[in-house]
Amino acid sequence: MEHINDVQQLARVVLTPDAPGYEEEVSGFQTGFRQRPEVVIGAADADEVRRAVAYAAGRGLSVSVQATGHGLPGASEGGLLITTRRMDEVRVDPAARTVRVGAGVRWAQVVAATAPHGLAPLSGSSPGVGAVSYVLGGGIGLLGRRFGYASDHVRALEVVTADGALRRLTPHGPDRDLWAALLGGGNVVRLGVVTAMEIDLFPVAALYGGYLRYGEESVAAAVRAYLEWTRGVPDEMTSGLAVLVYPDAPGLPEHLRGRYVATVSVAYAGDATTGARLVAPLRAAAPVLEDTLRELPYAENATVYAEPDQPHAYYGDNAMVRDLDADSALRVLKATGPGQPVWSVTQLSHLGGALARGGAEGGGGLDSVPHRSAAYAVRMLSALTPDVDVPRVRTLHREVFALLGEQVLGRAANFSFGGGDEVSGLHDPDLTARLSRAKRHYDAGGVFAHG
Ligand SMILES: Cc1cc2nc3c(=O)[nH]c(=O)nc-3n(C[C@H](O)[C@H](O)[C@H](O)COP(=O)(O)OP(=O)(O)OC[C@H]3O[C@@H](n4cnc5c(N)ncnc54)[C@H](O)[C@@H]3O)c2cc1C
Repeated sequence: MEHINDVQQLARVVLTPDAPGYEEEVSGFQTGFRQRPEVVIGAADADEVRRAVAYAAGRGLSVSVQATGHGLPGASEGGLLITTRRMDEVRVDPAARTVRVGAGVRWAQVVAATAPHGLAPLSGSSPGVGAVSYVLGGGIGLLGRRFGYASDHVRALEVVTADGALRRLTPHGPDRDLWAALLGGGNVVRLGVVTAMEIDLFPVAALYGGYLRYGEESVAAAVRAYLEWTRGVPDEMTSGLAVLVYPDAPGLPEHLRGRYVATVSVAYAGDATTGARLVAPLRAAAPVLEDTLRELPYAENATVYAEPDQPHAYYGDNAMVRDLDADSALRVLKATGPGQPVWSVTQLSHLGGALARGGAEGGGGLDSVPHRSAAYAVRMLSALTPDVDVPRVRTLHREVFALLGEQVLGRAANFSFGGGDEVSGLHDPDLTARLSRAKRHYDAGGVFAHG
């Protein structure tokens, strides 16, 4: 490993706090938390990542990574931040049905490259999310119940570890323990910087999907009907229900402004006729305010959840539950809905299917994805506004998830935002032991921040 003493020699983009462009470089989708590193390396390739890690390790600087800033664990000060947005390689191999994805790539870029081949990745609700970190956190996507976690279908990971080495990991290659720890644990227990990954693609050119919205008077009926409906749907059907009070903001459609609304989003990986037949009970459950269900090209998958794409400040947490009855769900909604001092979106995501089974193919059957037996994820996302601080929101979230009692298996890393180093409940004791062993082996000196 070469020794570099001048930080400016590490990469083409090196920024210190006084440099023009620093603020822009450290900012991301999450505006509630900021990383304030001593130095930012805007890495363009794996070699720059390798040099930056070696430099930081030699000086006792802790290293953190940022792609899009969707999943920041909290605010942090000091150390060296590697931003990956310039590592934007997307290379599709249509014959092998795989795609190679650089560290800074968002799902939108992957889908744009794969859709012309009639192939889809296991992407999630929001196209702006970074693909690599999503996969390291498991990755619960639009096709999750059909094909499993995104991390179940990884062919290769390239990772720079604390010793400054670039390793290529495959399901049956060396460093199996690192491979297993990264898939499902890699964005919690920081073990290295993944510079690229190769993942499977699936022959899904189109979906039957979109959403059904119900007004305030039908929220309870929609929740009851939705939970009942999920018990009978095939694995090809992946769905979620979100409930929130829409802001009374100009620009929103009149029927949403200031209204308490439930939205069921569905993605059916099958033909439109069968999809329409399957969703009929939802359409009949209560008066529907808005119905966007249709056959859509996978390239338009962002319209299924239609999430806001403007940066904002939020805190999020979740409970992965064995089961969820309608009364418990409605208790949660009462504690998070209209009249509450903290504005929140509550989401129920239907899990199970292939998510519960695990992946023997891509991941080689070895991974650290927790709580596979969860039937639902109950998720809460709260706005961080000037009058609402993080400790208050955290307390509210704890109280709300406590309403689910014995059904709670733990938390999913990908749906925890702003929890700092709070790792309790993310992995069960066996997985925690595996992740701790990997951390001791690959990053004994704690070069990578947090976790
Ligand atoms: C609007 C929204 C929608 C979402 N939808 C889904 C969904 O449908 N399904 C799902 O599973 N998740 C979803 N997520 C969660 C998302 O997958 C995680 O927050 C993920 O960590 C975001 O990665 P990022 O690169 O976009 O964010 P960043 O904040 O840039 O990264 C998050 C963390 O990942 C780590 N990291 C980033 N890049 C690397 C790397 N190259 N190597 C090692 N570690 C790295 C870092 O520790 C970093 O702090 C959603 C999040 C948001 C905000």
